[in-house]
Amino acid sequence: MFSSPFKESIIKRAVERGIVKINIYDLRDFTHDRHKITDDYPYGGGAGMIMKPEPLAEAIEEVNRESKSRVILMTPQGDRLTQSRARELSQENRITILCGRYEGIDERIRAHFVDDEISIGDYILTGGEIPAMVLVDAIIRLIPDVLGDEASVEEDSFSNNLLEYPQYTRPENFRGFKVPEILLSGNHEKIRRWRRRESLKRTFDRRLDLLDKAELTEEDKKILEEIRAEKIK
Ligand code: SAM
Repeated sequence: MFSSPFKESIIKRAVERGIVKINIYDLRDFTHDRHKITDDYPYGGGAGMIMKPEPLAEAIEEVNRESKSRVILMTPQGDRLTQSRARELSQENRITILCGRYEGIDERIRAHFVDDEISIGDYILTGGEIPAMVLVDAIIRLIPDVLGDEASVEEDSFSNNLLEYPQYTRPENFRGFKVPEILLSGNHEKIRRWRRRESLKRTFDRRLDLLDKAELTEEDKKILEEIRAEKIK
């Protein structure tokens, strides 16, 4: 499951350049029975299977034998993944990500072996692999030098709790829909102000919850007043 997404684009280049190293472990390698069983029935009955604690514990111990890494469990019950969480994790030297399957993992692993629990959103996926890939992608692109143009990370939506302004590329006139004049003006200060305004307006329209957390300058506050006034009209 992991080989293809990790062999594409930004992640691939980060690995090739030696900026990150990704090791994938198969839990079956940490079983001791002939059938390499990693799941079992839930105590107390009920549907589905639960991932057994021993292979998970042994895998975590093996990965952390020389030095302890931060152990993250992918679970829909965890803290919702945000850009600031990804940024914080991008500063870690090593992280270990556990992917659940079936009905999830034995609670004792969660309680005694896991440092952080992360969810990628309020919906249920079949396994933790896709959530782990989402987390890895979000983290890697924030590691210094991974993206060529550092500025693009800063301007991305959420990095300052604002959504990004609209972007356009050529042609100038696409089926009669024109690029805003100001972007063709060459006036950098005007373009900067336009983009900031569009970014504030977008966040105001779509994600008021983010605006409360955004660091706003006096200029931003004035623009927001104007946006509010326009809405009331
Ligand atoms: N029964 C579990 C519950 O209600 O919390 C859900 C189990 S889910 C079918 C199987 C595994 O997929 C989970 O252990 C977790 O690793 C992963 N998973 C599913 N949805 C996820 C999400 N939104 N975020 C992170 N991991 C998720």
